[in-house]
Amino acid sequence: MMETSANMILNVDDDEASRYAKSRVLKRAGYEVIEAASGNEALRILKNSLPQLVLLDVKLPDISGLEVCQKIKQDPYSSHVMVLQISASHVTVPDRVQGLECGADSYLTEPVESTELLATVRALLRLYKREEENRQLLAQLREADRQKDDFLATLAHELRNPLHPIRGAVDRLRLDAQLDPEVQFSRDVIDQQVDHLTRLIDDLLDIARITRDKLELKKERLCLADVLRCAVDSSRSFLESRGHQAIVTLPPDTVQVEGDMVRLTQVVVNLLNNAAKYTATGEKIWLSARVDGGCAIVSVKDTGVGIEPDKLPHVFEKFYQVDSSLERSQSGLGLGLTLTRRLVELHGGTLEARSEGLGKGSEFLVSLPIVSDQESSPPAELVPSNGGKSQGYLRILLVDDGARTRELYSMLLRRRGHAVETAADGETGIEMVKSFHPDVVLLDVAMPRLNGFNTCSRMRELPSGKNIVMIAVTGWTREEVQRRADESGFDGILVKPVGVQEILQLSSTLLERKREAS
Ligand code: ADP
Repeated sequence: MMETSANMILNVDDDEASRYAKSRVLKRAGYEVIEAASGNEALRILKNSLPQLVLLDVKLPDISGLEVCQKIKQDPYSSHVMVLQISASHVTVPDRVQGLECGADSYLTEPVESTELLATVRALLRLYKREEENRQLLAQLREADRQKDDFLATLAHELRNPLHPIRGAVDRLRLDAQLDPEVQFSRDVIDQQVDHLTRLIDDLLDIARITRDKLELKKERLCLADVLRCAVDSSRSFLESRGHQAIVTLPPDTVQVEGDMVRLTQVVVNLLNNAAKYTATGEKIWLSARVDGGCAIVSVKDTGVGIEPDKLPHVFEKFYQVDSSLERSQSGLGLGLTLTRRLVELHGGTLEARSEGLGKGSEFLVSLPIVSDQESSPPAELVPSNGGKSQGYLRILLVDDGARTRELYSMLLRRRGHAVETAADGETGIEMVKSFHPDVVLLDVAMPRLNGFNTCSRMRELPSGKNIVMIAVTGWTREEVQRRADESGFDGILVKPVGVQEILQLSSTLLERKREAS
Protein backbone atom coordinates (compact mmCIF):
# COMPACT_ATOMS: atom_id res chain seq x y z
CA MET A 1 0.00 0.00 0.00
CA MET A 2 1.37 3.41 -1.03
CA GLU A 3 1.75 6.06 1.68
CA THR A 4 -0.76 8.88 1.41
CA SER A 5 0.45 12.50 1.49
CA ALA A 6 -0.47 14.16 4.76
CA ASN A 7 -3.18 16.84 4.44
CA MET A 8 -3.40 16.43 0.69
CA ILE A 9 -6.85 16.61 -0.93
CA LEU A 10 -7.76 15.86 -4.55
CA ASN A 11 -10.59 18.11 -5.73
CA VAL A 12 -12.42 16.57 -8.73
CA ASP A 13 -14.95 18.83 -10.52
CA ASP A 14 -15.44 19.72 -14.21
CA ASP A 15 -16.99 23.10 -13.35
CA GLU A 16 -14.03 25.44 -13.06
CA ALA A 17 -15.73 28.04 -10.84
CA SER A 18 -17.09 25.51 -8.38
CA ARG A 19 -13.74 23.68 -8.29
CA TYR A 20 -11.90 26.96 -7.68
CA ALA A 21 -14.24 27.94 -4.82
CA LYS A 22 -13.80 24.63 -2.99
CA SER A 23 -10.02 24.62 -3.49
CA ARG A 24 -9.78 28.14 -2.11
CA VAL A 25 -11.67 27.25 1.09
CA LEU A 26 -9.51 24.18 1.62
CA LYS A 27 -6.21 25.95 0.89
CA ARG A 28 -7.10 28.75 3.29
CA ALA A 29 -7.66 26.12 5.96
CA GLY A 30 -4.10 24.87 5.39
CA TYR A 31 -4.68 21.86 3.14
CA GLU A 32 -2.59 21.06 0.09
CA VAL A 33 -5.01 20.74 -2.86
CA ILE A 34 -4.52 19.12 -6.25
CA GLU A 35 -7.20 19.32 -8.92
CA ALA A 36 -8.73 17.19 -11.68
CA ALA A 37 -11.42 18.21 -14.18
CA SER A 38 -12.56 14.69 -15.17
CA GLY A 39 -12.91 11.18 -13.79
CA ASN A 40 -10.08 9.74 -15.89
CA GLU A 41 -7.74 12.57 -14.93
CA ALA A 42 -8.52 11.90 -11.25
CA LEU A 43 -7.75 8.18 -11.64
CA ARG A 44 -4.50 9.04 -13.48
CA ILE A 45 -3.41 11.34 -10.64
CA LEU A 46 -4.26 8.67 -8.08
CA LYS A 47 -1.85 6.26 -9.78
CA ASN A 48 1.13 8.49 -8.88
CA SER A 49 0.20 10.33 -5.71
CA LEU A 50 -2.23 9.35 -3.01
CA PRO A 51 -4.12 12.12 -1.23
CA GLN A 52 -5.83 11.36 2.09
CA LEU A 53 -9.18 12.54 0.75
CA VAL A 54 -10.91 12.92 -2.63
CA LEU A 55 -13.61 15.53 -3.04
CA LEU A 56 -15.63 14.03 -5.85
CA ASP A 57 -18.27 15.73 -7.96
CA VAL A 58 -20.84 13.09 -8.96
CA LYS A 59 -21.50 14.48 -12.43
CA LEU A 60 -18.36 14.39 -14.53
CA PRO A 61 -18.02 14.67 -18.33
CA ASP A 62 -16.36 11.30 -19.00
CA ILE A 63 -17.15 8.68 -16.35
CA SER A 64 -19.56 9.22 -13.50
CA GLY A 65 -18.33 10.15 -10.02
CA LEU A 66 -20.00 6.99 -8.70
CA GLU A 67 -17.83 4.85 -10.97
CA VAL A 68 -14.68 6.79 -10.02
CA CYS A 69 -15.56 6.22 -6.37
CA GLN A 70 -16.07 2.50 -6.94
CA LYS A 71 -12.72 2.22 -8.71
CA ILE A 72 -10.92 4.01 -5.87
CA LYS A 73 -12.51 1.80 -3.22
CA GLN A 74 -12.11 -1.50 -5.09
CA ASP A 75 -8.40 -1.01 -5.75
CA PRO A 76 -6.44 -2.26 -2.70
CA TYR A 77 -3.83 0.36 -3.54
CA SER A 78 -6.24 3.27 -2.93
CA SER A 79 -9.12 1.70 -0.99
CA HIS A 80 -8.11 3.47 2.24
CA VAL A 81 -8.42 6.97 0.69
CA MET A 82 -11.48 8.86 1.99
CA VAL A 83 -14.09 9.89 -0.61
CA LEU A 84 -16.49 12.79 -0.07
CA GLN A 85 -19.07 12.93 -2.84
CA ILE A 86 -20.67 16.21 -3.79
CA SER A 87 -23.77 16.29 -5.97
CA ALA A 88 -26.06 18.87 -7.52
CA SER A 89 -29.02 20.19 -5.54
CA HIS A 90 -31.70 18.24 -7.43
CA VAL A 91 -30.24 14.90 -6.36
CA THR A 92 -32.76 12.61 -4.65
CA VAL A 93 -32.36 10.42 -1.56
CA PRO A 94 -32.01 7.20 -3.65
CA ASP A 95 -29.15 8.90 -5.57
CA ARG A 96 -27.40 9.71 -2.30
CA VAL A 97 -27.94 6.17 -1.07
CA GLN A 98 -26.42 4.87 -4.30
CA GLY A 99 -23.42 7.16 -3.79
CA LEU A 100 -22.78 5.78 -0.34
CA GLU A 101 -23.31 2.19 -1.56
CA CYS A 102 -20.56 2.80 -4.11
CA GLY A 103 -18.19 3.22 -1.19
CA ALA A 104 -18.27 6.99 -0.52
CA ASP A 105 -17.43 7.82 3.10
CA SER A 106 -19.73 10.85 3.20
CA TYR A 107 -22.03 12.89 0.99
CA LEU A 108 -22.80 16.63 0.58
CA THR A 109 -25.27 18.39 -1.70
CA GLU A 110 -24.65 21.68 -3.50
CA PRO A 111 -24.67 24.48 -2.54
CA VAL A 112 -22.17 23.57 0.16
CA GLU A 113 -21.44 26.10 2.88
CA SER A 114 -17.68 26.54 3.39
CA THR A 115 -18.02 25.81 7.12
CA GLU A 116 -19.93 22.57 6.44
CA LEU A 117 -17.37 21.56 3.82
CA LEU A 118 -14.47 22.14 6.22
CA ALA A 119 -16.22 20.40 9.14
CA THR A 120 -16.99 17.34 6.98
CA VAL A 121 -13.41 17.25 5.61
CA ARG A 122 -11.99 17.46 9.15
CA ALA A 123 -14.33 14.70 10.39
CA LEU A 124 -13.30 12.42 7.50
CA LEU A 125 -9.59 13.12 8.06
CA ARG A 126 -9.99 12.27 11.77
CA LEU A 127 -11.60 9.00 10.71
CA TYR A 128 -8.79 8.45 8.23
CA LYS A 129 -6.21 8.97 10.98
CA ARG A 130 -7.92 6.45 13.27
CA GLU A 131 -8.18 3.89 10.48
CA GLU A 132 -4.54 4.49 9.65
CA GLU A 133 -3.58 3.77 13.28
CA ASN A 134 -5.66 0.58 13.16
CA ARG A 135 -3.98 -0.45 9.93
CA GLN A 136 -0.56 0.03 11.50
CA LEU A 137 -1.60 -1.93 14.59
CA LEU A 138 -2.88 -4.73 12.37
CA ALA A 139 0.41 -4.79 10.45
CA GLN A 140 2.33 -4.93 13.75
CA LEU A 141 0.10 -7.75 14.99
CA ARG A 142 0.59 -9.68 11.75
CA GLU A 143 4.34 -9.24 12.05
CA ALA A 144 4.30 -10.33 15.71
CA ASP A 145 2.19 -13.35 14.73
CA ARG A 146 4.68 -14.25 12.01
CA GLN A 147 7.59 -13.90 14.45
CA LYS A 148 5.73 -16.11 16.95
CA ASP A 149 5.21 -18.77 14.25
CA ASP A 150 8.91 -18.56 13.36
CA PHE A 151 9.85 -18.84 17.02
CA LEU A 152 7.57 -21.87 17.57
CA ALA A 153 8.98 -23.57 14.49
CA THR A 154 12.58 -23.00 15.62
CA LEU A 155 11.76 -24.02 19.18
CA ALA A 156 10.10 -27.23 18.02
CA HIS A 157 13.13 -28.10 15.84
CA GLU A 158 15.53 -27.41 18.68
CA LEU A 159 13.46 -29.40 21.17
CA ARG A 160 13.12 -32.36 18.85
CA ASN A 161 16.86 -32.80 18.34
CA PRO A 162 17.75 -33.85 21.93
CA LEU A 163 14.86 -36.35 21.84
CA HIS A 164 16.60 -38.50 19.23
CA PRO A 165 19.55 -39.50 21.41
CA ILE A 166 17.19 -40.08 24.37
CA ARG A 167 15.03 -42.32 22.20
CA GLY A 168 18.19 -44.02 20.94
CA ALA A 169 19.36 -44.68 24.52
CA VAL A 170 15.95 -46.15 25.45
CA ASP A 171 16.00 -48.39 22.37
CA ARG A 172 19.51 -49.48 23.32
CA LEU A 173 18.24 -50.47 26.79
CA ARG A 174 15.49 -52.52 25.11
CA LEU A 175 18.13 -54.74 23.50
CA ASP A 176 19.18 -55.88 26.98
CA ALA A 177 16.93 -58.78 28.01
CA GLN A 178 18.37 -59.10 31.54
CA LEU A 179 17.63 -55.63 32.91
CA ASP A 180 17.12 -55.05 36.61
CA PRO A 181 13.33 -54.50 37.13
CA GLU A 182 13.92 -51.01 38.55
CA VAL A 183 16.01 -50.01 35.55
CA GLN A 184 13.36 -51.52 33.30
CA PHE A 185 10.68 -49.44 35.03
CA SER A 186 12.80 -46.27 34.69
CA ARG A 187 13.38 -47.04 31.02
CA ASP A 188 9.63 -47.41 30.45
CA VAL A 189 8.92 -44.10 32.21
CA ILE A 190 11.46 -42.31 30.03
CA ASP A 191 10.03 -44.08 26.99
CA GLN A 192 6.46 -42.96 27.75
CA GLN A 193 7.43 -39.37 28.48
CA VAL A 194 9.61 -39.13 25.36
CA ASP A 195 6.61 -40.38 23.37
CA HIS A 196 4.43 -37.69 24.90
CA LEU A 197 7.00 -34.95 24.29
CA THR A 198 7.52 -36.14 20.72
CA ARG A 199 3.77 -35.95 20.07
CA LEU A 200 3.57 -32.39 21.42
CA ILE A 201 6.59 -31.24 19.44
CA ASP A 202 5.39 -32.97 16.27
CA ASP A 203 2.08 -31.10 16.58
CA LEU A 204 4.00 -27.82 16.85
CA LEU A 205 6.16 -28.69 13.85
CA ASP A 206 3.14 -29.70 11.78
CA ILE A 207 1.29 -26.51 12.63
CA ALA A 208 4.35 -24.47 11.65
CA ARG A 209 4.55 -26.40 8.34
CA ILE A 210 0.85 -25.85 7.64
CA THR A 211 1.05 -22.13 8.48
CA ARG A 212 3.89 -21.73 6.01
CA ASP A 213 2.29 -24.00 3.39
CA LYS A 214 5.19 -26.40 3.72
CA LEU A 215 3.31 -29.55 4.61
CA GLU A 216 3.71 -32.03 1.79
CA LEU A 217 1.18 -34.80 1.32
CA LYS A 218 2.30 -38.05 -0.25
CA LYS A 219 -1.05 -38.86 -1.82
CA GLU A 220 -1.97 -42.28 -3.09
CA ARG A 221 -5.15 -44.29 -3.53
CA LEU A 222 -6.07 -45.77 -0.18
CA CYS A 223 -8.56 -48.25 1.08
CA LEU A 224 -10.31 -46.33 3.88
CA ALA A 225 -10.62 -49.48 5.98
CA ASP A 226 -6.80 -49.76 5.97
CA VAL A 227 -6.50 -46.21 7.29
CA LEU A 228 -8.94 -47.00 10.11
CA ARG A 229 -7.20 -50.31 10.93
CA CYS A 230 -3.85 -48.54 11.04
CA ALA A 231 -5.25 -45.79 13.30
CA VAL A 232 -6.85 -48.27 15.71
CA ASP A 233 -3.55 -50.08 15.81
CA SER A 234 -1.60 -46.93 16.65
CA SER A 235 -4.11 -45.86 19.31
CA ARG A 236 -4.62 -49.30 20.81
CA SER A 237 -2.06 -49.02 23.61
CA PHE A 238 -3.34 -45.53 24.61
CA LEU A 239 -6.98 -46.72 24.60
CA GLU A 240 -6.03 -49.82 26.56
CA SER A 241 -4.00 -47.81 29.09
CA ARG A 242 -7.22 -45.96 29.91
CA GLY A 243 -9.35 -49.12 29.90
CA HIS A 244 -11.41 -48.07 26.89
CA GLN A 245 -12.95 -50.47 24.45
CA ALA A 246 -12.95 -49.44 20.78
CA ILE A 247 -15.99 -50.60 18.81
CA VAL A 248 -14.96 -50.46 15.19
CA THR A 249 -17.20 -50.73 12.14
CA LEU A 250 -15.03 -50.79 9.02
CA PRO A 251 -16.31 -49.75 5.59
CA PRO A 252 -16.09 -52.28 2.73
CA ASP A 253 -12.67 -52.43 1.04
CA THR A 254 -14.22 -50.90 -2.09
CA VAL A 255 -14.45 -47.53 -0.30
CA GLN A 256 -11.27 -45.79 -1.42
CA VAL A 257 -9.93 -42.29 -0.92
CA GLU A 258 -7.06 -40.31 -2.37
CA GLY A 259 -4.75 -39.38 0.46
CA ASP A 260 -1.57 -39.58 2.47
CA MET A 261 -1.67 -42.78 4.55
CA VAL A 262 0.42 -41.34 7.38
CA ARG A 263 -1.54 -38.07 7.60
CA LEU A 264 -5.01 -39.61 7.32
CA THR A 265 -4.05 -42.13 9.99
CA GLN A 266 -2.86 -39.20 12.12
CA VAL A 267 -6.32 -37.60 11.71
CA VAL A 268 -8.16 -40.66 13.02
CA VAL A 269 -5.55 -41.32 15.74
CA ASN A 270 -5.92 -37.73 17.03
CA LEU A 271 -9.70 -38.11 17.21
CA LEU A 272 -9.48 -41.52 18.89
CA ASN A 273 -6.91 -40.29 21.42
CA ASN A 274 -9.03 -37.22 22.20
CA ALA A 275 -12.07 -39.44 22.70
CA ALA A 276 -9.98 -41.50 25.13
CA LYS A 277 -8.62 -38.40 26.91
CA TYR A 278 -11.98 -36.74 27.40
CA THR A 279 -13.93 -39.85 28.43
CA ALA A 280 -13.91 -41.47 31.87
CA THR A 281 -11.83 -44.66 31.96
CA GLY A 282 -13.43 -47.94 30.98
CA GLU A 283 -16.00 -46.54 28.55
CA LYS A 284 -16.67 -47.49 24.96
CA ILE A 285 -15.47 -45.45 21.98
CA TRP A 286 -17.03 -45.96 18.55
CA LEU A 287 -15.17 -45.66 15.27
CA SER A 288 -17.26 -46.19 12.16
CA ALA A 289 -17.46 -45.18 8.51
CA ARG A 290 -20.29 -44.97 6.03
CA VAL A 291 -20.76 -43.67 2.51
CA ASP A 292 -22.99 -40.67 1.92
CA GLY A 293 -23.25 -39.45 -1.67
CA GLY A 294 -19.74 -38.99 -3.02
CA CYS A 295 -18.20 -38.90 0.45
CA ALA A 296 -17.02 -41.28 3.10
CA ILE A 297 -18.04 -40.16 6.58
CA VAL A 298 -15.81 -41.35 9.40
CA SER A 299 -17.27 -40.92 12.88
CA VAL A 300 -15.43 -41.04 16.20
CA LYS A 301 -17.95 -41.03 19.02
CA ASP A 302 -17.57 -41.11 22.78
CA THR A 303 -19.70 -40.89 25.92
CA GLY A 304 -17.27 -38.51 27.62
CA VAL A 305 -17.28 -34.99 29.07
CA GLY A 306 -18.94 -33.52 25.98
CA ILE A 307 -18.65 -29.89 24.85
CA GLU A 308 -20.95 -26.96 25.68
CA PRO A 309 -22.72 -25.52 22.61
CA ASP A 310 -21.00 -22.11 22.91
CA LYS A 311 -17.56 -23.76 23.08
CA LEU A 312 -18.18 -26.09 20.16
CA PRO A 313 -17.24 -23.66 17.35
CA HIS A 314 -13.96 -22.82 19.11
CA VAL A 315 -12.46 -26.29 19.54
CA PHE A 316 -10.73 -26.08 16.16
CA GLU A 317 -8.97 -22.81 17.00
CA LYS A 318 -5.23 -22.80 17.61
CA PHE A 319 -4.27 -23.37 21.29
CA TYR A 320 -7.94 -23.54 22.36
CA GLN A 321 -8.74 -25.81 25.31
CA VAL A 322 -12.20 -26.02 26.85
CA ASP A 323 -10.74 -26.92 30.23
CA SER A 324 -7.08 -25.96 30.40
CA SER A 325 -6.85 -27.23 33.99
CA LEU A 326 -6.91 -30.84 32.80
CA GLU A 327 -4.06 -32.86 34.22
CA ARG A 328 -1.04 -31.77 32.14
CA SER A 329 0.23 -35.24 31.26
CA GLN A 330 -3.12 -35.94 29.56
CA SER A 331 -3.59 -32.67 27.80
CA GLY A 332 -1.82 -31.37 24.75
CA LEU A 333 -1.18 -27.88 23.49
CA GLY A 334 -4.64 -27.30 22.10
CA LEU A 335 -3.27 -27.84 18.59
CA GLY A 336 -4.54 -31.34 17.86
CA LEU A 337 -7.91 -30.38 16.41
CA THR A 338 -6.53 -27.36 14.51
CA LEU A 339 -4.05 -29.66 12.85
CA THR A 340 -6.58 -32.43 12.31
CA ARG A 341 -9.04 -30.09 10.59
CA ARG A 342 -6.33 -28.63 8.32
CA LEU A 343 -5.13 -32.12 7.39
CA VAL A 344 -8.70 -33.12 6.49
CA GLU A 345 -9.13 -29.92 4.46
CA LEU A 346 -5.87 -30.58 2.60
CA HIS A 347 -7.53 -33.85 1.53
CA GLY A 348 -10.53 -31.92 0.20
CA GLY A 349 -12.69 -32.93 3.18
CA THR A 350 -14.36 -31.39 6.23
CA LEU A 351 -14.24 -32.03 9.97
CA GLU A 352 -17.21 -31.30 12.18
CA ALA A 353 -17.71 -31.53 15.95
CA ARG A 354 -21.04 -32.43 17.56
CA SER A 355 -22.09 -32.66 21.19
CA GLU A 356 -25.40 -32.45 23.01
CA GLY A 357 -23.63 -30.58 25.81
CA LEU A 358 -21.59 -31.12 28.97
CA GLY A 359 -21.44 -34.72 30.09
CA LYS A 360 -23.24 -35.93 26.98
CA GLY A 361 -20.33 -37.19 24.91
CA SER A 362 -18.97 -35.90 21.60
CA GLU A 363 -18.87 -36.99 18.01
CA PHE A 364 -16.33 -35.89 15.43
CA LEU A 365 -17.22 -36.43 11.77
CA VAL A 366 -14.63 -36.51 9.01
CA SER A 367 -15.99 -36.29 5.51
CA LEU A 368 -13.65 -37.26 2.66
CA PRO A 369 -14.35 -37.43 -1.09
CA ILE A 370 -14.26 -41.03 -2.27
CA VAL A 371 -12.50 -42.12 -5.43
CA SER A 372 -14.87 -43.48 -8.05
CA ASP A 373 -14.64 -47.08 -9.31
CA GLN A 374 -13.01 -46.06 -12.58
CA GLU A 375 -10.29 -44.12 -10.86
CA SER A 376 -9.88 -46.78 -8.24
CA SER A 377 -8.69 -49.80 -10.20
CA PRO A 378 -5.30 -50.74 -8.78
CA PRO A 379 -2.26 -49.74 -10.84
CA ALA A 380 -1.65 -52.51 -13.34
CA GLU A 381 2.09 -52.82 -12.84
CA LEU A 382 1.66 -53.80 -9.21
CA VAL A 383 -0.70 -56.72 -9.85
CA PRO A 384 0.89 -60.06 -10.69
CA SER A 385 -0.52 -61.17 -14.04
CA ASN A 386 -1.52 -64.85 -14.30
CA GLY A 387 0.56 -65.60 -11.26
CA GLY A 388 3.70 -64.56 -13.12
CA LYS A 389 6.07 -61.80 -12.10
CA SER A 390 4.93 -58.56 -13.72
CA GLN A 391 7.09 -55.49 -13.55
CA GLY A 392 7.02 -54.09 -10.02
CA TYR A 393 5.78 -57.27 -8.29
CA LEU A 394 8.00 -57.88 -5.29
CA ARG A 395 8.76 -60.56 -2.75
CA ILE A 396 9.14 -58.71 0.51
CA LEU A 397 10.32 -60.05 3.84
CA LEU A 398 9.38 -57.95 6.84
CA VAL A 399 11.40 -58.52 10.01
CA ASP A 400 10.05 -56.66 13.02
CA ASP A 401 9.46 -57.63 16.65
CA GLY A 402 6.19 -55.62 16.70
CA ALA A 403 3.29 -57.98 15.90
CA ARG A 404 0.97 -55.14 14.88
CA THR A 405 3.55 -53.57 12.59
CA ARG A 406 4.06 -56.93 10.87
CA GLU A 407 0.33 -57.49 10.54
CA LEU A 408 -0.42 -54.03 9.22
CA TYR A 409 2.40 -53.62 6.70
CA SER A 410 2.03 -57.15 5.34
CA MET A 411 -1.66 -56.49 4.79
CA LEU A 412 -1.03 -53.13 3.09
CA LEU A 413 1.75 -54.52 0.88
CA ARG A 414 -0.23 -57.65 -0.08
CA ARG A 415 -3.15 -55.43 -1.03
CA ARG A 416 -0.88 -53.88 -3.64
CA GLY A 417 -0.20 -57.28 -5.11
CA HIS A 418 3.15 -58.10 -3.51
CA ALA A 419 4.13 -61.39 -1.89
CA VAL A 420 4.95 -60.75 1.76
CA GLU A 421 6.34 -62.95 4.52
CA THR A 422 7.14 -61.83 8.04
CA ALA A 423 9.49 -62.78 10.85
CA ALA A 424 9.40 -61.65 14.47
CA ASP A 425 13.18 -61.77 15.07
CA GLY A 426 16.51 -61.74 13.28
CA GLU A 427 17.25 -65.48 13.52
CA THR A 428 13.86 -66.44 12.01
CA GLY A 429 14.37 -63.75 9.35
CA ILE A 430 17.69 -65.32 8.31
CA GLU A 431 16.02 -68.74 7.96
CA MET A 432 13.23 -67.22 5.87
CA VAL A 433 15.66 -65.62 3.44
CA LYS A 434 16.84 -69.14 2.62
CA SER A 435 13.34 -70.47 1.90
CA PHE A 436 11.41 -67.40 0.67
CA HIS A 437 14.11 -65.78 -1.54
CA PRO A 438 12.91 -62.19 -1.08
CA ASP A 439 13.73 -59.30 -3.44
CA VAL A 440 13.53 -56.86 -0.55
CA VAL A 441 14.06 -57.24 3.20
CA LEU A 442 12.70 -54.58 5.56
CA LEU A 443 14.57 -54.87 8.83
CA ASP A 444 13.61 -53.15 12.05
CA VAL A 445 16.86 -51.90 13.57
CA ALA A 446 15.95 -52.05 17.26
CA MET A 447 15.06 -55.70 17.78
CA PRO A 448 15.91 -57.60 20.95
CA ARG A 449 18.63 -60.30 20.82
CA LEU A 450 19.89 -60.08 17.23
CA ASN A 451 19.43 -56.45 16.25
CA GLY A 452 18.77 -55.24 12.71
CA PHE A 453 22.42 -54.39 11.95
CA ASN A 454 23.72 -57.85 12.90
CA THR A 455 20.78 -59.54 11.16
CA CYS A 456 21.62 -57.64 7.98
CA SER A 457 25.33 -58.64 8.10
CA ARG A 458 24.37 -62.30 8.55
CA MET A 459 21.83 -62.19 5.70
CA ARG A 460 24.45 -60.69 3.38
CA GLU A 461 26.71 -63.69 4.02
CA LEU A 462 24.06 -66.11 2.67
CA PRO A 463 24.53 -67.29 -0.95
CA SER A 464 21.44 -65.33 -2.11
CA GLY A 465 22.17 -62.40 0.23
CA LYS A 466 24.20 -60.31 -2.19
CA ASN A 467 21.32 -59.48 -4.53
CA ILE A 468 18.71 -58.68 -1.93
CA VAL A 469 17.76 -55.06 -1.30
CA MET A 470 18.13 -54.56 2.46
CA ILE A 471 16.33 -51.60 4.02
CA ALA A 472 16.80 -50.53 7.64
CA VAL A 473 13.62 -49.26 9.30
CA THR A 474 14.37 -47.05 12.26
CA GLY A 475 12.93 -44.58 14.73
CA TRP A 476 16.29 -42.80 14.91
CA THR A 477 17.36 -40.10 12.49
CA ARG A 478 19.02 -41.09 9.23
CA GLU A 479 22.33 -39.51 10.34
CA GLU A 480 22.38 -41.56 13.54
CA VAL A 481 22.11 -44.92 11.81
CA GLN A 482 23.83 -44.11 8.49
CA ARG A 483 27.35 -45.24 9.48
CA ARG A 484 26.28 -48.51 11.14
CA ALA A 485 23.81 -49.18 8.33
CA ASP A 486 26.59 -48.82 5.72
CA GLU A 487 28.92 -51.09 7.70
CA SER A 488 26.22 -53.76 8.06
CA GLY A 489 25.45 -53.78 4.35
CA PHE A 490 22.10 -51.99 4.21
CA ASP A 491 21.16 -50.46 0.85
CA GLY A 492 18.79 -47.87 2.28
CA ILE A 493 17.19 -46.43 5.39
CA LEU A 494 13.57 -45.56 6.13
CA VAL A 495 12.74 -43.39 9.12
CA LYS A 496 9.49 -44.16 11.00
CA PRO A 497 6.65 -43.45 10.49
CA VAL A 498 6.95 -45.06 7.09
CA GLY A 499 4.30 -44.90 4.36
CA VAL A 500 3.70 -47.92 2.13
CA GLN A 501 4.27 -45.81 -0.97
CA GLU A 502 7.61 -44.76 0.46
CA ILE A 503 8.62 -48.41 1.02
CA LEU A 504 7.68 -49.33 -2.53
CA GLN A 505 9.35 -46.32 -4.11
CA LEU A 506 12.63 -46.86 -2.29
CA SER A 507 12.51 -50.61 -2.99
CA SER A 508 12.13 -50.18 -6.74
CA THR A 509 14.81 -47.45 -6.89
CA LEU A 510 17.29 -49.64 -5.01
CA LEU A 511 16.43 -52.77 -7.03
CA GLU A 512 16.94 -50.84 -10.24
CA ARG A 513 20.29 -49.62 -8.97
CA LYS A 514 21.33 -53.16 -8.02
CA ARG A 515 20.29 -54.53 -11.43
CA GLU A 516 22.25 -51.83 -13.23
CA ALA A 517 25.33 -52.50 -11.11
CA SER A 518 25.30 -56.28 -11.65
P1 ADP B 1 -5.76 -30.73 23.31
O1 ADP B 1 -4.32 -30.81 23.05
O2 ADP B 1 -6.13 -29.81 24.42
O3 ADP B 1 -6.45 -32.07 23.39
P2 ADP B 1 -7.22 -30.39 20.83
O4 ADP B 1 -7.01 -29.37 19.78
O5 ADP B 1 -7.06 -31.82 20.44
O6 ADP B 1 -6.27 -29.98 22.02
O7 ADP B 1 -8.66 -30.18 21.42
C1 ADP B 1 -9.08 -28.87 21.76
C2 ADP B 1 -10.08 -28.94 22.89
O8 ADP B 1 -11.29 -29.54 22.41
C3 ADP B 1 -9.63 -29.83 24.04
O9 ADP B 1 -8.84 -29.10 24.96
C4 ADP B 1 -10.94 -30.27 24.62
O10 ADP B 1 -11.41 -29.28 25.52
C5 ADP B 1 -11.90 -30.30 23.44
N1 ADP B 1 -12.09 -31.70 22.95
C6 ADP B 1 -11.43 -32.31 21.95
N2 ADP B 1 -11.89 -33.56 21.76
C7 ADP B 1 -12.86 -33.75 22.67
C8 ADP B 1 -13.73 -34.84 22.99
N3 ADP B 1 -13.70 -36.01 22.32
N4 ADP B 1 -14.61 -34.65 24.01
C9 ADP B 1 -14.67 -33.48 24.68
N5 ADP B 1 -13.89 -32.42 24.43
C10 ADP B 1 -12.98 -32.55 23.43
